[in-house]
Amino acid sequence: MVKDTKFYDTLGVSPQASDNELKKAYRKAALKYHPDKNPSPEAAEKFKEISHAYEILSDDQKREIYDQYGEEGLSGAGAGGPGMNAEDIFSQFFGGGFGHGGGPQRPTRGKDIKHSISCTLEELYKGKTTKLALNKTILCTNCKGLGGAEGKVHKCTDCHGSGMRFVTRQMGPMIQRFQTVCDKCQGTGDICNPKDRCTHCKGKKTQSERKILQVHIDPGMKDGQRIVFSGEGDQEPGITPGDVVFVVDEKPHPKFTRKGNDLYYEAEVDLLSALAGGEIAFKHISGDWIKINIVPGEVISPGEVKVVESQGMPIYRQGGRGNLFIKFTVKFPEANFTTEDKLAKLATILPPRAKVSIPADAEVDECDMVNFNPALHQNTRRDAYESDDEEGGHPGVQCASQ
Ligand SMILES: [Zn+2]
Ligand SMILES: [Zn+2]
Repeated sequence: MVKDTKFYDTLGVSPQASDNELKKAYRKAALKYHPDKNPSPEAAEKFKEISHAYEILSDDQKREIYDQYGEEGLSGAGAGGPGMNAEDIFSQFFGGGFGHGGGPQRPTRGKDIKHSISCTLEELYKGKTTKLALNKTILCTNCKGLGGAEGKVHKCTDCHGSGMRFVTRQMGPMIQRFQTVCDKCQGTGDICNPKDRCTHCKGKKTQSERKILQVHIDPGMKDGQRIVFSGEGDQEPGITPGDVVFVVDEKPHPKFTRKGNDLYYEAEVDLLSALAGGEIAFKHISGDWIKINIVPGEVISPGEVKVVESQGMPIYRQGGRGNLFIKFTVKFPEANFTTEDKLAKLATILPPRAKVSIPADAEVDECDMVNFNPALHQNTRRDAYESDDEEGGHPGVQCASQ
């Protein structure tokens, strides 16, 4: 039985919670209420509360006192002081500083190095090889990353080779732990007689190197695709180097749009070709020209989409190609392009006019249209048309009641 559950409640855990559950609860709450995330004064107060609760409960001794005597027990034991700053608890926790015993954990794998590699659609179609110079850190070639003569460099016993140490300091009633550079080895993590130090790297263990990497962009690669050079990241003693990763950045094309392995192209066709046949031609991503016959009798409507099979992008490492989609716009002739006599002939060729159908009992307003003029028509009506440009696209219609 615990005397008081307040601190447990603050973290949202039961009094039987394990260390791990406490850590999880604190992590979650601290990230939620941290002032950087949540600037409200309520959150700041809450952040202090959860930090204080965690500070007490994460310490076995204090937790025992709290369980037995409640909060008063802690102040009775002289723990009523200011305690640790909530921010310090936070940074220790997330800096990985709360591990018990030993030095702080060092990463065992180096960081990946990312570069984006800009590619045009043409380059992704054909593929290309790019040489890129990379400045990287490698182990000293003279001492192989030891920092001195073989057998003469020893791991620092104070910091276990990490170069960093935890220092525990009594601050009034509270015990504070913080990370500091190991003074025995000056942060190098090892001990070596100065005469045995490597003269090439002066004990630094690493040197920099310029390396040329050949990056192959294969036909059909896509935006965001990664090309990984495994283990080509910076070297450091005792860690596995990370990777160098190139990420394909596909530049937009002025004429073609890519979706997966398919290409989309917008083609304009004149009205005569659309109705009576003709041809269109345009330059493809491949550099070749595409020529398409429109067969007389095949009618191309405005907005219609046709497909040219297997004229899309190459399919990455599979062979074959996606499809090419063509969306048509139809170029209509200018106003008054021919005489009324000739237009009358159209009536003998084209399908008949659609008959209007108006209910017999409807009142009919006969209207005239004028050309749309933004200055004349839009200023007074802007509000009405702004919300639905598509639907309200006939602002030139004027009605004259009769
Ligand atoms: Zn040391
Ligand atoms: Zn060296």
